[in-house]
Amino acid sequence: MKVWNFRVQSAPMFCSYDLHNHSTASDGTLQPAALVRLAVEAGVEVLALTDHDSTEGIEEARQAAVSAGITLIPGAEISVTWNKQTLHIVGLNLDIACGPLQQGLAGLRAFRERRAREIGERLERAGIGGAYAGARALSNGHLISRTHFARYLVQVGAAVDLRQVFKRFLVQGKPGHVAGQWASLEEAVAWIHAAGGQAVLAHPARYNLTRSKLRRLLREFVALGGDALEVVSGSHSRDDYQVMARYAREFGLLASAGSDFHSPENPWIALGRLPQLPEGCRPIWGDWPALRQAPTFAQAH
Ligand code: AMP
Ligand code: MN
Ligand code: MN
Ligand code: MN
Repeated sequence: MKVWNFRVQSAPMFCSYDLHNHSTASDGTLQPAALVRLAVEAGVEVLALTDHDSTEGIEEARQAAVSAGITLIPGAEISVTWNKQTLHIVGLNLDIACGPLQQGLAGLRAFRERRAREIGERLERAGIGGAYAGARALSNGHLISRTHFARYLVQVGAAVDLRQVFKRFLVQGKPGHVAGQWASLEEAVAWIHAAGGQAVLAHPARYNLTRSKLRRLLREFVALGGDALEVVSGSHSRDDYQVMARYAREFGLLASAGSDFHSPENPWIALGRLPQLPEGCRPIWGDWPALRQAPTFAQAH
């Protein structure tokens, strides 16, 4: 028997929504179905799969979620270039059959392929051979991200962990860096809206923007019809939650929460262990029909 009455009486210690996650369809290490199983174990009731520039994992995740009795939100994390800076816009509740969305994502994946070859050539010139082939093999037929290069470079002993690979090889000014040529902010929001989804500025505290630049970004995002700010993120500090909650209120944005889980090997970002949104936030899931479809106390009896 369902215990919905129990759920409404006691507020959960953790948010049961986790709206930002990766699978093997991009740079996560779990297959979509395995990700869903882990989410269930972690007590997540509403899970979004938001792979980078791809919705390839959605069908498998959806089927696994149906068997497990949790809600799967179809999503994607779209790579954007804004003022020479890379930003990530998470789209939630996407109709993945939407043509403009899929054409947009295909363009980004085509850039990923060109970039991967270029990263491989640059690393070759820096004395590290076989990186493109290595990253290609690790991506297992899916898109190639810098994470795949990082995993390969750790395997061959070029660095001790992913963090060190990024710092030494893959960021601006380092031998394997290639500048992003991603979607514009306007395109990303438009594709998401064309697919009936909501656009969320992902992990806003991670971009190290000055306050004035962040305000400019938020103004532009709102003007383009952006819907929400990811207030609670696995890569945010407690202070960041409060700061971003204030920005969400000030700019009239909804608030989202997601772990940005990639792999069980990253113990610092666990799936589903997210705190509740700070007081005063309007949750992005406030008017989601999935909640209305959930059996009520009365129906469960
Ligand atoms: P890409 O979209 O291919 O440029 O790769 C970006 C991904 O690399 C992010 O989504 C993270 O998963 C990962 N990443 C970025 N910076 C770091 C870092 N310093 N340490 C570990 N992973 C990182
Ligand atoms: Mn990633
Ligand atoms: Mn991201
Ligand atoms: Mn992410």
